[in-house]
This record gives sequence, C-alpha cells and structure tokens, in this order.
Amino acid sequence: MPRILILGTGFAGLQTAIELDRALPRDSAHDILLVNDQNYFLFTPLMPQVVSSYINPRHFIQPIRDIRGRRRFRFRRDTVHSLDLAARRVHCAEGSLAYDYLVLALGSRTDFFNVPGAREHTWDFKSLEDALFLRERLLDLCEHADHTADPALRRRLLTFVVVGGGYTGVELITEMQDFLFHYVAPRYRGIAPADIRLVVLEATGEILRGVHPDLARYSRRRLDAEGIEVRTNSAAVRSFPGGVEVSGGEVIQAETVIWAAGVRAHPLVESLPGPHDRRGRTQVNVHLQLEEHPEVFVVGDSAAVVHAEGAPQVAPVAIDEGGLAARNIAHLERGTPLESFRYAPTGMLVSLGMNYAVVSIGRIRFSGYFAWLLWNAVHLFKLVGFKKQVQVAVDWMLGSVFPRDASILRRPVRCPLCSGQCASVGALDSPRSASAGPKP
Ligand SMILES: Cc1cc2nc3c(=O)[nH]c(=O)nc-3n(C[C@H](O)[C@H](O)[C@H](O)COP(=O)(O)OP(=O)(O)OC[C@H]3O[C@@H](n4cnc5c(N)ncnc54)[C@H](O)[C@@H]3O)c2cc1C
Repeated sequence: MPRILILGTGFAGLQTAIELDRALPRDSAHDILLVNDQNYFLFTPLMPQVVSSYINPRHFIQPIRDIRGRRRFRFRRDTVHSLDLAARRVHCAEGSLAYDYLVLALGSRTDFFNVPGAREHTWDFKSLEDALFLRERLLDLCEHADHTADPALRRRLLTFVVVGGGYTGVELITEMQDFLFHYVAPRYRGIAPADIRLVVLEATGEILRGVHPDLARYSRRRLDAEGIEVRTNSAAVRSFPGGVEVSGGEVIQAETVIWAAGVRAHPLVESLPGPHDRRGRTQVNVHLQLEEHPEVFVVGDSAAVVHAEGAPQVAPVAIDEGGLAARNIAHLERGTPLESFRYAPTGMLVSLGMNYAVVSIGRIRFSGYFAWLLWNAVHLFKLVGFKKQVQVAVDWMLGSVFPRDASILRRPVRCPLCSGQCASVGALDSPRSASAGPKP
C-alpha cells in the first residue's frame, strides 16, 4: 500500500490532502497521513483581529478532524524533528514514519536578518500563540499605563513599533490603532490619545511593496490620517529591552517592538541538500519535486519553484502548489504525465482597519469602504467550515455595535517597572519568555 506522508496542515498541506482524496481512485489502497504540531488549521489573515480583540481566536481556527469529514486521510499531531531522505523516513517527537511519497508543507519562520537583539527583544507574529500573547501584552501595558504617574513611562508603555511595512505589518498596526484609539482611550481614564504612539519602520522607500503604487500611496495617506507614523527608508538596526535603534542612529523608546519584516524557509527545508534561494527556500522543479528525490514534493512558503521565483509567500500560492503536488502524486501512481506549476497572480486585498481596505484584482483596483466590505466577504468565504463563518460574521457584527472584550485571562504578577506597586504582568514578559516555546 503506497504511503503518502504530508508534513504540515497549513494552506499547502491541507490542500494536498483534500486534493489527493479527489485525485486518487475511490477504491485505491493509499495510506495518506497528515502530520502537524497543532491539531487545527490556522487561517492566518485574521490573526491581527485577535490582537485587537475584534474576533475570538477559537472562531477562526478549525480542528483538522472536523475539516476531514469523510475524506480518507489520517491525522497525527506530532512534531517533525528530522528528515532522512535516503532511508525515506521522517523522525518525529513520538516516533519515526516511513513513506513512499513525502510532501513538505512546513511553512516558514520569521527572518530577523541577523539584526542584533531582534530575535531576543522583539515580538514575533507568526503563530496563534504570538497573536494571543500580543493581545494580552497590549492590554497589560494599558492597565499599567492607566495608573502610572510618570508621563515618560506612560508614553514608553504605549509606544508600539512594528518593523516591516508589508501587508502583515500594515494590517496589524491598523488593527492596533482601532483598538487603542477607539476602545482603550475612551475607557482607560489615565490614558489620553496623545499618550499613544504607533510607528511602522519600513526599510524600503514605500510600504506595501507588491501592491499597485496608487493603492500603496492611498494606504500611506490612510495611515497618516490615523496618526500612525510611517517611517520609510528606516531599517531597524538594533533592538534592546525597551526600544529599537533605527538606521541613522535614532533610538525609539518602546516597550513593544513587533517584528513583521520578513520570512524565510522552515529550518528543516533550509537544511535539505541542493540549491536554495536567498530566503532559504529549497528549489523544486516545475512539478514541485526535489530534483534528486522525485518522490519528495515541497510546497507553500518553503518552496522556490524553478521559473516561478517571483511567486510570493502567500496563501493562494500555497493552495495552488498543494493541489498540484496532490495531482502529480496521482499522475505518478497512474503513470500519466505530470502537470507543471504556473504562477498566476490572484490579486491583493489589504485591510486598513475598520471601514478601510485596498483591493487589487486583475485590472480592478479600488479602496475605501467598499474595498473593506469585499475584504470581509472574501475572507469570510475562504474560512473553512460554515460554523466558523457564522462565528466570525457574528464577532464582526457585535464588534461594530458593542465594545470589544478587553479581559486579560492570565493572573497578574509583579511588575518590575514600578518596583511591584502595580499588578501588571506585561512589562515582566519578554518576547521569548512569553512565547509558547522556541521558534523553529
Ligand atoms: C500574521 C499573518 C498574516 C497573513 N496574512 C495573509 C493574507 O492576508 N493573505 C495571504 O495570502 N497570506 C497571508 N499570510 C501568509 C500565509 O499565511 C502563508 O503564505 C501560508 O500560510 C503558507 O502556507 P504553508 O502551507 O506553506 O505554511 P503554513 O500555513 O504556515 O503551514 C505550515 C504548517 O506546518 C506546521 N509545522 C511547522 N513546523 C512543524 C514541525 N516541526 N512539525 C510539525 N508541524 C510543523 C505548522 O504548525 C503549520 O500548521 C499571512 C501570514 C501571517 C503570519
């Protein structure tokens, strides 16, 4: 019985499993096993809305076994530690697994570009845990700032810097702006809007590279209007507890610096033999196979497809590659010709907080409220599962009528900033001590 092992249940891995179920004959005896370190599928585009307490995190993650329904694949929650391509085995925390076909869909990790202190002192924004910790961190700091008598300390607590003006950084900072100015400032009586400072550091000359320049300019104006400082041609060159240094020597005092500046391939993929691109992605042929190991497919954020190097690390590309890898495995089983990957840009939708977005689909480009409505509609449609779609839609409706829920779920511990007089936990947490574990 041919064994097909898929590592990762993100956009690419999940699509591989779903498409394999369609592509292989109903009565075939294939053993399809999906392995992931979490037992749910994370719909990453909605993560910024967790930080702003707009949606409940449980409402946009979907347990893999619920997605599976009657499909044939098995699921195992396990963490992959190493790959042995020669022996066709994968070693996981809870044992090793043999395969005939392997699909690597392990996603990517944050690239700190070797900036001193960035890994240790900035907040990552890749996983659901990152979003949850960031939400609580933000609230912790607001609690502390609400009653501190020192205006300089209050300003530092309420200064948030996002490094990276790509779509993730922009969507995150605009969500934070909504929350801090429209929820926190009116309710926390010790915090005035002027105490809050939001900064985006972008190393290149413009934010939202890859988006049409008209839309990027519109977004810039929107962020300016919302009081978000956008610093272009400003790279973060050093990070330390309590701040970040910008190219040119300026130091920004900020208790929270979030790193959204780039991604590189998963370390297991980066360590594969053969050519890799500058982001560590392994090069695969047009059929998504490793040249030396045609039984191994690499898909999603960690794959650099030959002749399609310009394909961005986004969900639609991962989904396309996952589907293609599945069909090519079915072709190999049937002995029919393999299909080739062709990158076809699908468009770009970027939310700019409540009521604003930019949309670019083919030749159609627009911005503002209707773009925001479309952003919502598309993301709701793409969520997996009717129950989740209803839950998120209800969250959005309630969030536009009622106040958000700013409850902090963890118990307070002693805060070092005020020698323990305050009961805030946030300032005590460093990015890495708060994270759920070491990053891959
Ligand atoms: C905050 C954020 C917002 C984003 N917004 C958008 C957006 O609006 N639109 C868009 O198109 N793209 C967006 N992206 C990018 C998009 O999420 C990625 O391009 C996409 O997830 C890539 O799919 P993938 O299957 O390659 O990897 P992933 O979806 O990351 O899946 C990788 C899977 O592998 C698992 N895994 C990793 N290591 C191990 C291990 N050692 N053992 C077992 N399992 C492991 C992970 O848990 C994960 O489930 C966003 C990303 C982030 C972080």
